[in-house]
Amino acid sequence: MVTALKKLGFRKVFDTNTGADLTIMEEANEFVERFKNKGTLPMITSCSPGWVKYIEMNYPELLPHLSTCKSPHEMFGSILKSYYAEKNGIDPKKIFVVSVMPCIAKKFERQREELKNDELDNVDCVITTRELARMIKQAGIEFTDLEDSQFDSPMGEASGAGAIFGTTGGVMEAALRTAYEWITGEELKKLNFEEVRGKEGIKKATIKIGDLDVKVAVAHGLGNAQEIMEEMKSGKADYQFVEIMACPGGCIMGGGQPIKSAKIRMTVDVRKKRADALYTIDEKSVIRKSHENPVMKKLYEEYLGKPRKP
Ligand code: SF4
Repeated sequence: MVTALKKLGFRKVFDTNTGADLTIMEEANEFVERFKNKGTLPMITSCSPGWVKYIEMNYPELLPHLSTCKSPHEMFGSILKSYYAEKNGIDPKKIFVVSVMPCIAKKFERQREELKNDELDNVDCVITTRELARMIKQAGIEFTDLEDSQFDSPMGEASGAGAIFGTTGGVMEAALRTAYEWITGEELKKLNFEEVRGKEGIKKATIKIGDLDVKVAVAHGLGNAQEIMEEMKSGKADYQFVEIMACPGGCIMGGGQPIKSAKIRMTVDVRKKRADALYTIDEKSVIRKSHENPVMKKLYEEYLGKPRKP
């Protein structure tokens, strides 16, 4: 894909999973702060713009539960137009950021006024993976003949935690890996949180973080999200952390993904295959925790200082 994008004319190609690591740095920190200081809980993830729009329209009274974090590609765009621009002596106004996403809602999200920094959009254009596939075909590029190439540095490295973001339960698992170590100060040995994996519409679990019990819930698809919201409204929910993704299965089954033929739909469990692929990338990654990604370490050391800088 990197080679194809370069052939299509993009000067630099970065990995959105690096943005996912940045989201975890911020989101895990926010969760730890709320958890320790008795802030608004449960904290609910905010990286799915389809979900954010849904809660805004249907449960505005629960908005304080949303994490304050932007989605990964928005965070990444803001870093490209600040840290990366400064480091490379580029006028941020001359950077045009295009996000390739599995998501149609991100086309709307990128236009949100409240996400701008210094009057600039973080991301200038969003194309879906379906649109990218068409562009590659229209340009006459034979995808299977392309040589592999690497993402551009210094922002091209991502952890396994960043990779699993795309499937239901992945954001929760990535955040727990980091939150565990930040809360306990101890190394997390067992990185897989099987409790939050799988295709059930709503997954609930109690996660041991040191001596503490953290109650979590993971929902995908807006019908399941609604169930959790109603539970919260009625006061029956006792979770501390909730992950919600609008699309059934998460971003791997996002509305912008290539449309599958009827034959494939009937014969292949595409959702499972895509989720398995992400978990395999994670298992094979040398770095599997967002806060251990050297790109993150450098970014915070050189530029951001600490998470949740206004
Ligand atoms: S779950 Fe769907 S709406 Fe949400 S970010 Fe992923 S693709 Fe977009």
